[in-house]
Amino acid sequence: MNFNLNFNNLQQNYLFAEVAMRTSAYIKANPRKKVVKLGVGDVTLPLAPAVIEALHAAVDDMSKKETFQGYGPYEGYEFLRESIRGYYRSVGVELDLSEIFVSDGAKSDLGNILDIFSKDNTVLIPDPVYPVYVDTNVMAGRNIIFADATEQNGFLPMPPEGVHADIIYICSPNNPTGAAYTKAQLKEWVDYANREGAVILYDAAYECFVSDGSLARSIFQIEGARTCAIEFCSLSKMAGFTGTRCGYTVVPAELKKDGAEANKLWLRRQSTKFNGVPYIVQRGAAAVFTERGQREIAENLQVYKSNAQLIAAAMDSLGIWYTGGKNSPYIWLKCPRGMGSWEFFDYLLNNAQVVGTPGAGFGKNGEGFFRLTAFGSEQTTAEAVERLKNLLKN
Ligand code: PLP
Repeated sequence: MNFNLNFNNLQQNYLFAEVAMRTSAYIKANPRKKVVKLGVGDVTLPLAPAVIEALHAAVDDMSKKETFQGYGPYEGYEFLRESIRGYYRSVGVELDLSEIFVSDGAKSDLGNILDIFSKDNTVLIPDPVYPVYVDTNVMAGRNIIFADATEQNGFLPMPPEGVHADIIYICSPNNPTGAAYTKAQLKEWVDYANREGAVILYDAAYECFVSDGSLARSIFQIEGARTCAIEFCSLSKMAGFTGTRCGYTVVPAELKKDGAEANKLWLRRQSTKFNGVPYIVQRGAAAVFTERGQREIAENLQVYKSNAQLIAAAMDSLGIWYTGGKNSPYIWLKCPRGMGSWEFFDYLLNNAQVVGTPGAGFGKNGEGFFRLTAFGSEQTTAEAVERLKNLLKN
């Protein structure tokens, strides 16, 4: 027996553990000081009432012989896939039902999709980045190259000239930078992928925060994407499903190479290794896409969007450079006075008792940057913003 020693090549991710450790050490040493956290990437508002009602009704279904459900379809119940199809239609994207796969969230599918690709593919990943893209490919031993996201390109790297890649990761709006590609920029990526015979793994987990019409809600709004892209999306941030778990992946019929079809491979992979998302959860998820569900989740999203605007406005008034905040729950700011990411973390904690996330934890280009999130309550966000303004105004 041999273990997969590619695991030895994973970077130890100390980021959130280190943040938690420094924060609790500070609280222990300063028990009277109230610490405000703007570091979490998890939602804080409860599920919408329409979802709760649907969940309760689905529990009742399971109690009666006539409505009880056993194993469901691997790709998700038709009632939910129809709802997701309607959601895509509302942004001008037509999908076949067979192209939609329900999952237990975007993270699982982002990792699992790699089963359908050869190990010898070269992977292009932006830096800084959501660590899952890097780690899942390191585990498989793939060759990884990075696309530098920097202040100069607004943390939106464009296709590299003269460089070939087989698998390309794009996350827009981005975690951690909050930066979002315009449709015109995504068209360049789609053209590059089609030219190179590559696939774009497009993470749309934060599409619900996009309100600017020039930005994409889905990669499939871009002409040519159906031959080169797979899209991952999630109800986690859209509808507060981080703990309930539901997402979906779109694999278009036209994504083919050498006689193999991505859609068929993915169905085969899922039917072999996955037995579907619980019926109860899928009923709750379907409620998100009803008129009432959409109205109710919009109210929650508006709280996060207002928090983001408040933080962004504070950065504007302080003259601090940042990305995100406008079509994203993340604000990615340049640490003032030339401070490093961890230096700024300590400075904020010690002088304003505000906790954020050091950008250096998301990749080498994150050094000197800092992530704040809008998922806190209105009160804590407003308090943190006041403290930031007072500390950094001079
Ligand atoms: N993709 C990105 C960019 C994320 O930030 C997250 C969660 O924070 C996920 C995917 C995972 O989402 P899910 O809860 O659907 O697994």
